[in-house]
Amino acid sequence: MKRIILSVLLALPLVMATNPASSRTPAVRVVIDPGHGGQNMGALGAYGVYEKYVTLSIALRLGRLLETEPGITVFYTRKDDVFVGLSERAELANALDADLFVSIHCNASEHRDPNGIETFFLGMGGDDPEADEVARRENLETSLNASARDEDLVGILEDLRKNGDQTEAATLAEVVQRRLTRAVPEAADRDVRQARFTVLEKARMPAVVVELGFITHPKEGLDLLLAPYQERLAMALRDAISHHAVARFAAPQRSAMRY
Ligand SMILES: [Zn+2]
Repeated sequence: MKRIILSVLLALPLVMATNPASSRTPAVRVVIDPGHGGQNMGALGAYGVYEKYVTLSIALRLGRLLETEPGITVFYTRKDDVFVGLSERAELANALDADLFVSIHCNASEHRDPNGIETFFLGMGGDDPEADEVARRENLETSLNASARDEDLVGILEDLRKNGDQTEAATLAEVVQRRLTRAVPEAADRDVRQARFTVLEKARMPAVVVELGFITHPKEGLDLLLAPYQERLAMALRDAISHHAVARFAAPQRSAMRY
């Protein structure tokens, strides 16, 4: 992983130098995080396709769209079918001094019926059993990467609140959820929720996990495999992120602090 971080950092001046927007306005750095990868397959869908392929496909679509947006520089935690640990993903975003972190996932259930889209930002957990279950499943690899202890998480959330990242994460989650459910009205709106995702615990910037639908649902699980549906989701995410990025530029103190 160190090698990957190093190569990304080495590539950074090149990316910035070749981005015409960077010489005029500071670019918002967005890290796109396709969930799972390599031996971490993610959930198994209703049609025998693992989540890791769907998240990568949608993430790459989103990246292609976002890369054409002025004032936004895009990074990825993975662009291939490789394993990247949950902590490493957040640490990569921290090393890049990213402004936004968007982790892309598909939901799963042992039942056929659950469906719909939901967007998460970091919380303590304990108030919403359904949300806790999603986080538990997405955190499964963390037997290898220990997640934060309760008292550490209290400190993390306190820090995020102090510097405004928690509020911004909530706002971003709201925008993402609204855009997605507007773009695919056939999907149920499962709302913005908070849960204790390991990948969010170490991110030192506004960060969200998007669950783009249930890969286990007979209809939604099929939709998620289809290019036009993936593109609609990617376009909605692009709209949400660029909308949020524009809002950031309207807050001069924050921009001045960072650049
Ligand atoms: Zn996942």
